[in-house]
Amino acid sequence: MARIYNFSAGPAVLPEEVLKKAAEEMLDYKGCGMSVMELSHRGKEFTDIIETARANIREIMEIPENYKVLFLQGGASMQFAMVPLNLMNKNKKSDYVNTGQWSKKAIAEAKKYGEVNIVASSEDDNFKYIPRLDPAAFSKDADYFYIVTNNTIYGTEYKEIPDTGDVPLVADMSSNILSDPVDLSKFDLIFAGAQKNMGPAGMTLVIIREDLAGKASDDVPALLNYKTHIDSESLYNTPPCYSIYMAGLVFKWIKEKGGLTAIKKLNHEKAQILYDYLEQSSLFSSPVQKESRSMMNLPFLTGSKELDAKFIEEASVCGLKTLKGHRTVGGMRASIYNAMPLDGVKALVQFMEEFEKENG
Ligand SMILES: *Cc1c(COP(=O)(O)O)cnc(C)c1O
Repeated sequence: MARIYNFSAGPAVLPEEVLKKAAEEMLDYKGCGMSVMELSHRGKEFTDIIETARANIREIMEIPENYKVLFLQGGASMQFAMVPLNLMNKNKKSDYVNTGQWSKKAIAEAKKYGEVNIVASSEDDNFKYIPRLDPAAFSKDADYFYIVTNNTIYGTEYKEIPDTGDVPLVADMSSNILSDPVDLSKFDLIFAGAQKNMGPAGMTLVIIREDLAGKASDDVPALLNYKTHIDSESLYNTPPCYSIYMAGLVFKWIKEKGGLTAIKKLNHEKAQILYDYLEQSSLFSSPVQKESRSMMNLPFLTGSKELDAKFIEEASVCGLKTLKGHRTVGGMRASIYNAMPLDGVKALVQFMEEFEKENG
């Protein structure tokens, strides 16, 4: 059996150690004679799984006491609606920064529930940069301020988190959660779908400052109300059990790797190898402005559609898979999440060097 290097933006590569552990426990989880998928979500074994997962993510992210950790369903996309449904409840006003497709979808959803002010946008240049934010443009009376910290499709990332004062800051961290230590005191609500950097699809992580919840209007469905999930500790209904179990294994793996500081160091090392190569290459280049470049998703181009297609095909034959860029950007994109080994990035750069020699 040969594992390939999977550069997919999501669902994405998972740590091999985690997959092996899951395989080992598949038929008989800790002597109970069942797989995790067959366990009651109210039973002793699963209670231990979800509580351990919660405790471990609290530890690795250093989550303050007054924030709640929720394991929900519906993907990151359901949060596009849950955020306004729960938070746009005072002045019915919100501020959004438009940094690409995922912000646009969130904006469209928020507009159904109140006024949306676009504070800044990088749409003028196909989202190749994170726009400069001018605090004078922020609405003082917004119910919240919304950003996407890492833009999966374009490969941009905030290097500085805006100070929104008393206005709660909400962040979609789907593609850079757990890639880097986060100062949670700067945020009031963050969320992320599991399938980029945490585990298999199905679970969505929400970390919310507790006092923000419980203010939704009465007609908000119970399942879309953060308070429901806080009160029931993510067990109001059947949670995405297996996805929570897998994410729990990933949290343990991160702890064993030395936590987020060690993970960040490795992520920087990996990204630097690829960016350094792109800087000096006469064939490949990054379309992203230097100051906004992501550590997780790295788009690159040859400038020729034919060469891009040839590259993607030949790389795939060599076990370097899913390198095709998003259709709105073109070219290639290497997603190098936590679970992508350093050797995978080295193999990619070596292949790019060979390709450049032959085709440059
Ligand atoms: C993938 C992604 C989403 C959508 O996630 P789903 O779980 O498919 O709803 C939203 N935001 C960002 C930044 C993403 O990368």
